[in-house]
Amino acid sequence: MRIALVGGGPSALFVLKQLLEFGPSDLRVVIFERKSRLGQGMPYSAEGAQPEHITNVSSSELPPLPESLVDWVQRQQPEEMQLYGVDPQRFHEDRVLPRLLFGRYLQEQFEQLLARAEQQGVRVRVHFEATVEDIRDLPREKQVELLVNGQLLHYDRVVLCTGHHWPLKNEGKVAGYYDSPYPPAKLVGPFDHPVALRGSSLTAVDAVRTLSRQHGHFQRSEAGLAFRPDARYPHFKLVLHTRNGLLPCLRFHLEDPEVHGVELPDEEQLAEIRRENDGFVPLDWVFDAYFKQLLREKDPEAYERIRTMNMEQVVEAATRPREASDPFDYFKKEYAEALESEARQRTVAWKEVLAILSFALNYPAKYFSAEDMLRLRQTLSPLISIVIAFIPRSSAEELLALHAAGRLELLEVGTQSRVEPRDEGGITYYFESGQQSYETFVDCVGQPTLELDSFPFRGLVNQGVISQARVAFRRAENAREVESDKVQRGEDGSCYLVVPGMAISDHFQPVDQGGRAHPRVYVMTVPFMGGHNPDYSGLDFCEEASKRIAEKLMESMPGRICSSQKAGG
Ligand SMILES: Cc1cc2nc3c(=O)[nH]c(=O)nc-3n(C[C@H](O)[C@H](O)[C@H](O)COP(=O)(O)OP(=O)(O)OC[C@H]3O[C@@H](n4cnc5c(N)ncnc54)[C@H](O)[C@@H]3O)c2cc1C
Repeated sequence: MRIALVGGGPSALFVLKQLLEFGPSDLRVVIFERKSRLGQGMPYSAEGAQPEHITNVSSSELPPLPESLVDWVQRQQPEEMQLYGVDPQRFHEDRVLPRLLFGRYLQEQFEQLLARAEQQGVRVRVHFEATVEDIRDLPREKQVELLVNGQLLHYDRVVLCTGHHWPLKNEGKVAGYYDSPYPPAKLVGPFDHPVALRGSSLTAVDAVRTLSRQHGHFQRSEAGLAFRPDARYPHFKLVLHTRNGLLPCLRFHLEDPEVHGVELPDEEQLAEIRRENDGFVPLDWVFDAYFKQLLREKDPEAYERIRTMNMEQVVEAATRPREASDPFDYFKKEYAEALESEARQRTVAWKEVLAILSFALNYPAKYFSAEDMLRLRQTLSPLISIVIAFIPRSSAEELLALHAAGRLELLEVGTQSRVEPRDEGGITYYFESGQQSYETFVDCVGQPTLELDSFPFRGLVNQGVISQARVAFRRAENAREVESDKVQRGEDGSCYLVVPGMAISDHFQPVDQGGRAHPRVYVMTVPFMGGHNPDYSGLDFCEEASKRIAEKLMESMPGRICSSQKAGG
């Protein structure tokens, strides 16, 4: 069987790893990578990072690769590591790494997998500077056709690992407007004025780390980290704009860092739950199984406090103290909590369990009712996004130092805010309690979920291989409370909520309008997955998705039927 992987970033790395887990085979794999390096993808290359940017995943949380991150760091040249402020001998499995260094680690893991493939007799060919321009299904030939640098090529299966995409809306047209902070090299000051950032999570932290260094420097003393502003830019400051006026949570010690090791409900289990619930997987079932019951195991006292609460009440109880405090005071408190958690090697159980819930939600979310999907978005997702940011300690110290120096503020803009570009450059930010104009604006909301009209492979869209993701309403009358352009009606009168991106199967195949999973195409296309996989991001989910894809791919190999036949399994 000939398999094409489109894109050679982290997703392709994990797909190849999973395929090789099945042992020797006569698979033939071809990788097309637009750039000239494997493994680094967008976040771990110059497209997404500079030396000041760090990962939010430590060695202990990483899905297994040929060599552990700690072993890799420890065998690097100390002089080279010191350029990034890393001491190889003191690096341990709870530490995070600069993203560019991490990219080199991933690249080497890819190279080690290529060597392993050769030993196993699996033929892998890599084409660099090879851009896949379009893809078409050939049902009669049972193949897919790829247009690569103007040439048509045919394969039995294709896995789309094309990753992040940051569409440009106003950047380049409106002076001082940045649609995202990537690539960070484009954020070139100096800006002797307040700079508006939309968002306060990891993407905003990336922009803060870049911009602060252009307008001063950080200095460590016994009293902690301080920001020393450059006297030439007295008016420079960063203003974070958030809906709820909250700052994200910090990293702490994780008791079970391998979230990818969590056992998710299998197909049979889900089928049974759906049979008992009119075809749906209830959000409350997932919340109970992956939050309440796990909390009971990890922290029985905390569990007792929430035992009788429903999901909304738990979210309310977790959010209330945060909302009642000044965000930077609360951030300071959480910083102290994180330090203590690390020093005592004790987790903050409810936060750790919430991260597991976020991972676990991905898989059954496509079977939620529209009513539950709306509850998830309105109630649980905002809390999850605050908690699972896991801001690394060094970033937290920088945020606190900037705030103490009067160079970082946070503004709550509510849910009805909007940003309008100005003719003379910059923007005006309109929000519930007023408006504010800025000369420079950086949109830091993170990877946006994209609509299918920006899906890069038009052939698949035109053939109906890719279709809009949606979930059914339990009761059609509830659809009346939703904007009409977000509702679709079926021929049988049932109503659907349109959710972002494409419909996908349990094995990450695109699903057509008739509900059929495509037999030859598999997708790990980050911006187009968010509707049916609300937390599709992170290396742990790359691991999970690629495992399911590899299992399905190997089913169609002669003599290989199921995952239990994996080498060593
Ligand atoms: C800024 C940032 C930081 C992050 N940090 C972390 C972190 O610390 N920890 C964590 O767990 N997750 C993190 N993530 C999540 C991230 O989604 C994954 O780590 C990972 O990047 C996903 O890999 P990918 O291969 O799907 O996508 P990408 O990394 O985007 O890679 C896609 C690859 O495909 C290639 N490509 C694209 N289109 C084509 C084409 N048409 N033809 C040929 N090649 C093509 C690209 O050149 C690229 O190499 C971060 C995400 C971002 C955006």
